[in-house]
Parts: sequence; structure tokens; C-alpha cells
Amino acid sequence: MITNTTGKVILIGAGPGDPELITLKAVRFLQQADVVLTDRLVSSEIVNQHVRKDAEVIYVGKQCRRGYSTPQESINAYIAEYAAQGKLVVRLKGGDVSIFSNVLDELEVCVKNKIPYEVVPGITAALGAAAYAGIPLTARGHSTAVRFLTLYKSDIVTNEYWGELAKTTDTLVFYMSSETLNDVVTNLTANGIAKDKLLAVVEQATTPFQTVHVINLYDYAEKMKGQTFISPSLIIIGKVVELHQQFSWIENSNSKEYYFKPVGKIDSSAAEEIKKVS
Ligand code: SAH
Repeated sequence: MITNTTGKVILIGAGPGDPELITLKAVRFLQQADVVLTDRLVSSEIVNQHVRKDAEVIYVGKQCRRGYSTPQESINAYIAEYAAQGKLVVRLKGGDVSIFSNVLDELEVCVKNKIPYEVVPGITAALGAAAYAGIPLTARGHSTAVRFLTLYKSDIVTNEYWGELAKTTDTLVFYMSSETLNDVVTNLTANGIAKDKLLAVVEQATTPFQTVHVINLYDYAEKMKGQTFISPSLIIIGKVVELHQQFSWIENSNSKEYYFKPVGKIDSSAAEEIKKVS
């Protein structure tokens, strides 16, 4: 096995799902990597196609609200340990590295341990979903700005900010919020969001199972409340959502299959491995 004399870490955004939505730079590093730490929301095809057969691939999936996620400390420990062995370590993350990810922890590990590192951006879910659902996030006559938000727990957005979110003409994109969608809609309608703004939920964007649901926020309670969505799902709210009807170029799959495996129990050998390095 080829190893580097000094270790290095490459933090890479692998894109939102479609395995072709990855940069050439990411592919080059994957071909060189000795160790690849990969996420739940990374297409397995990316790893299968580009990583050397003799490289070590470690699955460090996480999933909000489910048990069995790999603790961040274990990921940090893997990074430090393998880099100290002189290996080229790729940390492969879903979407882009800097949007709703723990990249800060991983950057800190590199700096603290004096490990050289590079960061390679990826296509974040909002951009993948916008393209594959035919919903431009900004568009003439519709919206001049876009905000990336999350409501993965309810105290992230203050009451005052809900008022502002209801009034703005900016497009709102909520990550990690399909399970709290009810709260999102309740807060925006209670604050008088305009009736011409629509809500889209994009399930499994850019994958063969992509499904887009579009509804008026004021019809949500009657028609969609309580519906569960397949993970991962992204929420887009604004006037731009009406463009989907005219510009969607991919048919809804309406499939209930999972493109990304839900996080399962970490098998005992992986657990041992984690214990060993942490
Ligand atoms: N760093 C990632 C986001 C991680 S947070 C990025 O830049 O895309 C995980 C959340 O991203 C999910 O809960 C979901 O809201 C969103 N997401 C990621 N991939 C997605 C996909 N293929 N389809 C829909 N939403 C996705």
C-alpha cells in the first residue's frame, strides 16, 4: 500500500446524491486516499467507483434523532490517528462541507494536531434540489435572495425571527426539518405569510427516487399534516416554488424506497475499531 510520509486530511463535499454531482478534484483525492471516512448521505456509488480497492473505507454515518450514530469524537479520533500514521485521509461529507455539517470540529482537530488539510466544496442539497426539481432559488419577479435555515429543534428560530421569515420575499430553504415541518408551517401562517407563497418538500433530491410535494401553506393542515417524508428531505418555501409546475424536468418517482441506507446499529467490529482509536 502506498502511504504518504506525512499524513494529510482532505475534507470533501460529495454532493447531494447523484454520484455524478462531484468535482474532479474530489475524485482525484478519492483515487489517492489511503483512508476514506464516509457519511450516510454520500452515494455508495461514489465510494465504489473512485476509491482504491486497497484503501480503508470507514462508514461514520450520523442521523439526527436516531440512535447508533457515530459520535463526532470517534470521527475526530479516526482523523487524528490515521493522519498520525502518515496516511492520506479523506473525510467525505454529503452535499457541501460547510453547510450544516460538523466541519468546524474536524478543522479544529487538524489544526490542534498540526495535520495539513485541504477543503473541497460540494453541491449542497439546496442547489441539487433546486436544479432537479425545477425551482430556481432566486428568479426575476419571484425572489432576489435565498436563506438556508434549519429547525431541527424548535428553539433555533425565535418568535421575532418567525415574523421576519413570514414577511421576507427571500426564498427559505429548511434543512433537517421535515420532522418539524408542522412547526414551520404553523409559525409562518400564524405570522401571516403571503398566500401566493408555496411550500415544496423534496424527498431524496437528485436520486432516482426524488419526489417533490408542492402545497400552499394554508392548505397544509388539511391536506398534508402528519405526513412523514423519506429521509433526506428538504423544504423550500417562497414564490419561486410555483415555477416547479412549469419547469420540472424529472417525473416524480413516488417511490418509497430508500436511496441512502438509514443509520443502523454500528456492527461490533466497527464499534471495536472506534474504541481502539478514541
Ligand atoms: N452538508 C449537507 C447537509 C447536511 S444536513 C449539504 O450541504 O447538503 C442533512 C440535511 O440535508 C437533510 O436532513 C436534508 O434536509 C438535506 N439533504 C441532504 N441531502 C439531501 C437530498 N438528497 N435530498 C433532500 N434533502 C437533502
